[in-house]
Amino acid sequence: MTKKQKKVLIRIIVSAVLVAAFSLIPVENQYIRLVLFLIPYLIIGYDILKKAVLGIINGQVFDENFLMALATVGAIILGEYLEGTAVMLFYQIGELFQSYAVGKSRRNISALMDIRPDYANIEQDGQLEQVDPDDVEVGTIIVVQPGEKVPIDGVIVGGDSTLNTSALTGESLPREVHEGDEVISGCVNLTGLLRIETTREFGESTVSKILDLVENSSMKKSRSENFITRFAKYYTPAVCIGALALALLPPAANLLMGHPANWSQWIIRALTTLVISCPCALVISIPLSFFGGIGGASSKGVLVKGSNYLEALSETKYVVCDKTGTLTKGVFEVTQIEAAGETTEDALLEMAAYAESYSNHPISKSLKEAYGRRTGNQIDTSRVSDVEEISGHGVSAVIDGRRVSAGNVKYMKMLDIPYTVPHKIGTEVHVAVDGKYAGYILISDIVKPNAKAAIADLKAAGVRQVIMLTGDARNVAESVAEELGVDVVKSELLPADKVAEVERLLAAKGEKERLAFVGDGINDAPVLSRADLGIAMGAMGSDAAIEAADIVLMDDDPAKIATAMNISRKTLGIVHQNIMFALVIKFACLGLGAIGFVNMWWAIFADVGVMIIAVLNATRTLKS
Ligand code: ADP
Ligand code: MG
Repeated sequence: MTKKQKKVLIRIIVSAVLVAAFSLIPVENQYIRLVLFLIPYLIIGYDILKKAVLGIINGQVFDENFLMALATVGAIILGEYLEGTAVMLFYQIGELFQSYAVGKSRRNISALMDIRPDYANIEQDGQLEQVDPDDVEVGTIIVVQPGEKVPIDGVIVGGDSTLNTSALTGESLPREVHEGDEVISGCVNLTGLLRIETTREFGESTVSKILDLVENSSMKKSRSENFITRFAKYYTPAVCIGALALALLPPAANLLMGHPANWSQWIIRALTTLVISCPCALVISIPLSFFGGIGGASSKGVLVKGSNYLEALSETKYVVCDKTGTLTKGVFEVTQIEAAGETTEDALLEMAAYAESYSNHPISKSLKEAYGRRTGNQIDTSRVSDVEEISGHGVSAVIDGRRVSAGNVKYMKMLDIPYTVPHKIGTEVHVAVDGKYAGYILISDIVKPNAKAAIADLKAAGVRQVIMLTGDARNVAESVAEELGVDVVKSELLPADKVAEVERLLAAKGEKERLAFVGDGINDAPVLSRADLGIAMGAMGSDAAIEAADIVLMDDDPAKIATAMNISRKTLGIVHQNIMFALVIKFACLGLGAIGFVNMWWAIFADVGVMIIAVLNATRTLKS
């Protein structure tokens, strides 16, 4: 509990004891009773009264403080001292409870997201010095000791260790890392001392980006939250007008018909309706539910950038996936090298690797690695110039003065170069030197271990169709599609074709159905932003994709989509339960209150009781 909450708790206890004592002491004199009850009333309610007055002064009259102040002051004026004080007392109990619950889920989430590094170690004259990670420049060597968090993204230049990545990815198995491996900030170093050369500034590092996303996620409101905000704006004044009418019209009618007016009875009923109709149960529990849902998802390694996206995820019926890097690992193995003419196999691989030297495409990375492994040589980028990457086709560069082009069949056709058709299935990288065909390299990717289960889980979670779009060759695409059980596969697409395909699907789907695109962001950032919901691979994906995406899968595991979908369904389910529950109880009590069947004590339940139940229900979203 915070200091503020403790103070409120003390006020609640003191005032509750006084109320209990005064209601037991028989005091005949009304004025003495009034003075006695005013003590606990003011102890517990002075801040609400103050806020209500400030609200009136600032022109924002109709809020729950106003409702409570009006109802309790009214009750006291009419001589219902005990009821008036009790309403205020229970209202404060409800508020305390709610602020405690909100604080607790905040703390839970920040514990889940306990990734913010406080310092970075740099070596100075053989001594370790702790500095602010913000001051570390790119290319600095930092030292991370066992037990410390990696503060900045970088590459290991010394040491072996295991990293705990669970705060980032939800993956509980530690990851082994060695010299040369990339590490992302936010992981905890478990066993060995690591020397890391930073590749980014702190502000650009994974950890800063994630914290930014989580902190800003509550800015993007879901439809349910917007509905409640709008609802409360009209609802509270409407309730006040209704209460005023209830206080004035029936007595006036009585007078007209020659009966006694019965003012106090109708005013009490009107005040009761004010207490019942306080909208705090909804105003509080709905954002809390989304907050919990987003927190629960991030503990599973799924970053959701706003409640609106969590809502859209629960309505997703079509999932469109990219192949390379999304369903497959994007780590290709060379399976065949077929050189044409005078070229040797080694020379062919060398030219391909050099041509790819500046590209980030998974194919490029794999070819460069294969070259390094096979020949033991490093790529000397000074031999490479005039690099050009044609997305969906391949790359071209000048190497030692010769123009080398490497890419797929489409690229060879575009360059008008005759090529050999391989017999085996695989992704083909054809190479041409100065316009003459030099042979092909056949590479193959493996599907992610979870990909098949991921697609089955999506179907089980209610997704109607899983569609795979890829720029890769048809035979490769179809064999992967069959292995994984996707419903529809489209191959040999250029990035623009993928956008067109997604647009066609968007136009064909039902109005309440959402379409999600899942990609690694290499060549597919445009589709990510075009779909209703863009989901990107965080560990492997490009920065552009993570920016463009609405949801980021931290560990690149496609099975997390279904996990997140289930969390979103549960969250939305709880939100709807709370809306229904609160509205049904409130309207029932309002109806009964207007005709006098509900007294102040029931009104307190309809307000505070409903709020507490709704908040308790909302906190369930945190546990998934
Ligand atoms: P996807 O991610 O669906 O495989 P891309 O648009 O990234 O689609 O790539 C489509 C195809 O274009 C690849 O399968 C490959 O044949 C070719 N290609 C793209 N970039 C390169 C590259 N850098 N080197 C060689 N081939 C490439
Ligand atoms: Mg791709």
